[in-house]
Amino acid sequence: GAKAQGRGAWCFYAEEMTQAARERLTLESRLRRALQQGQLVLHYQPQIDIATGRIVGAEALVRWLDPDEGLISPARFIPLAEVSGLIEPLGAWVLAEACRQGQAWRAAGLPEITLAVNVSPRQLRQSDLPAAVAQALAQSGFSAAQLELEITESALAENHEHALRILHELRALGVQLAIDDFGTGYSSLVQLKRYPIQVLKIDQGFVRDIPHNKDDMAISAAIVAMGHSMGLRVLAEGVETAEQLEFLRAQGCDRYQGYLRSRPVPAAEFEDLLRAEAPH
Ligand code: C2E
Ligand code: MG
Ligand code: MG
Ligand code: MG
Repeated sequence: GAKAQGRGAWCFYAEEMTQAARERLTLESRLRRALQQGQLVLHYQPQIDIATGRIVGAEALVRWLDPDEGLISPARFIPLAEVSGLIEPLGAWVLAEACRQGQAWRAAGLPEITLAVNVSPRQLRQSDLPAAVAQALAQSGFSAAQLELEITESALAENHEHALRILHELRALGVQLAIDDFGTGYSSLVQLKRYPIQVLKIDQGFVRDIPHNKDDMAISAAIVAMGHSMGLRVLAEGVETAEQLEFLRAQGCDRYQGYLRSRPVPAAEFEDLLRAEAPH
């Protein structure tokens, strides 16, 4: 009857829960091991100056190189790292590795670029983030001015006063600050103008349907205009087509990132891209 069916459904649900929890635990301990055993790598996606077409920066994006599964996307493990707390050592590793690599490229005489590193909401909540950044800079010798930290708009909205204090401390180190996925986090303009930031990154969701979606085009254009009026640089993410790039250029957008130019690539491949930029 209905009762038995209800109970059956409940058992099924409970079983699903345990399985999900078990999978989460397995993934978590595997990730912990991966971090210890050096199975995480950074890929680099070029950031292009729209006016000159030259590579002026790169975003460091973490990947997990699992011996069995191959390359695992951050979409699968960053959220887990965030809830489990693993994001703290993982984030520290990403910072250290990006700074080490950036300094190695400088030492090799490659064109100077900014390296953008993603900072998760939980990292931003830690009060020792500025100390961790200072340490990564000091240990590598990388220049603070070439390091850009990307913070999502939603992370800033979470605990506004604390976030603001951390941003000021980071800025005092000389690093640049970018708001990632801008336009998706509902930060008020009053808050926005208080952030000591230099860059707005237009979320790729607004870029994807250019030139077909007129609303997205209007929003992208408005973000460029607003960013510029606040003295900020504006970078568009997820640019895949020449039409999208032309539209963004016409709006005066400063930089872009996207498959149109390059996917995120391993360090050695990025180095080749950068070398090709150097004057011959
Ligand atoms: P994000 O920071 O917004 O990074 C942009 C994502 O868009 C990257 O995905 C990138 O590969 C992808 N992308 C770039 N160009 C295009 C394009 O033209 N078309 C499309 N469809 N996608 C494009 P990825 O590498 O899978 O990273 C996903 C997210 O994972 C990142 O979004 C970021 O939130 C997070 N993430 C990655 N690495 C780290 C990290 O080291 N630390 C933290 N906290 N989060 C990270
Ligand atoms: Mg990012
Ligand atoms: Mg983004
Ligand atoms: Mg994103």
